[in-house]
Amino acid sequence: MRRVAISMLLFGGLVCLSGVWITQTTPESKLAQGVVAILFVLSGLLVTALPARRRLLEAYSFWGIFLISGLIAVTEQVAMAPNFFLWPVVYSAYFSSRRVTIFAVIWMAVTLAISLWLNTAVEFKTDTWVAVVATVGLMAALISTMTQREMKLREKLEKAADTDPLTGLMNRRSFNPQLEKQLANAVRQKQPLSIVMFDLDHFKKLNDVHGHLVGDQALQAVAEVLRSQSRDGDLVSRFGGEEFAVALPGADVDRARAYTERVAAAFASTEFIARLELTTSAGIASIAEGVNTAQHLLQRSDEALYAAKAGGRCRNAYWDGKIIVGPRFGEAVLSL
Ligand code: GH3
Ligand code: MG
Ligand code: MG
Repeated sequence: MRRVAISMLLFGGLVCLSGVWITQTTPESKLAQGVVAILFVLSGLLVTALPARRRLLEAYSFWGIFLISGLIAVTEQVAMAPNFFLWPVVYSAYFSSRRVTIFAVIWMAVTLAISLWLNTAVEFKTDTWVAVVATVGLMAALISTMTQREMKLREKLEKAADTDPLTGLMNRRSFNPQLEKQLANAVRQKQPLSIVMFDLDHFKKLNDVHGHLVGDQALQAVAEVLRSQSRDGDLVSRFGGEEFAVALPGADVDRARAYTERVAAAFASTEFIARLELTTSAGIASIAEGVNTAQHLLQRSDEALYAAKAGGRCRNAYWDGKIIVGPRFGEAVLSL
């Protein structure tokens, strides 16, 4: 947006300057055009030095409109000058909100009216004003509508790319960067964080016995359980197939173990899941000395998960210096 503003101001200045040479007009008019042209160029150079703040970037459009109106006020031959309003107005329509664009068009209509009124050389003032405001206004409306549509579409696509369509949970693609962020926070604030990797037990058999449709419904029910057992700030994702990864900021190993017990209990009390006799294994890894990267934590939770599977399934396994495999879910509740 900043680069476009700079290009428009500098290029506008050059076009204006070339007009001084080309148009046959009085020396006073040429001088005035030259001053406006220099103002354009100076503004362009000034923008290169100013910070790229949103409000400031939006204001350049209003400043550009003001300069063009100034040009119309001082030039003897208005000719094509109003066409240049398209530059700042289209800039607003593309980069700014609809509200800012409407203000830009109103600002153009007002400043144009004043500049036409000030310019004694212009013959058809009202006709010129109506034609310019209508043309530029329509163009602004069209571009603004197209931009809004494009933004909505982009939001939808981004959401679709980040979400697992079956369960509505975040997918692995969006989980990883969010985990990195949470992890960096936790490390900075010296807070615990655990990752739990769930893998449903004998899910292939469930598909074989009940069919893939029931398998899909089971995955949706599992996602609902994980969602309902998580707190604000927890990251719940479908990592792939019948694997789910959950990041629990603020949870140490014991809290993560208690969380897996709660999830297992919720499995048992969810009628649909219980009827399918579906259970899960869980691998837990927490931030520890030398273990503070997403990759390392995921790798550890994966290793713990395999240990939980090897240890008989329907249980968790966690790191405490080495991997410790817990008892079957439901049998450890009282000891936690
Ligand atoms: P284990 O206890 O060792 O994890 O056994 P498992 O059968 O769960 O593991 P395995 O990796 O052999 O099989 C995973 C199954 O998950 C196979 C695959 O068909 C099923 N699956 C993966 N994604 C989906 C899905 O989106 N829908 C359905 N219905 N099934 C899926
Ligand atoms: Mg699996
Ligand atoms: Mg499995």
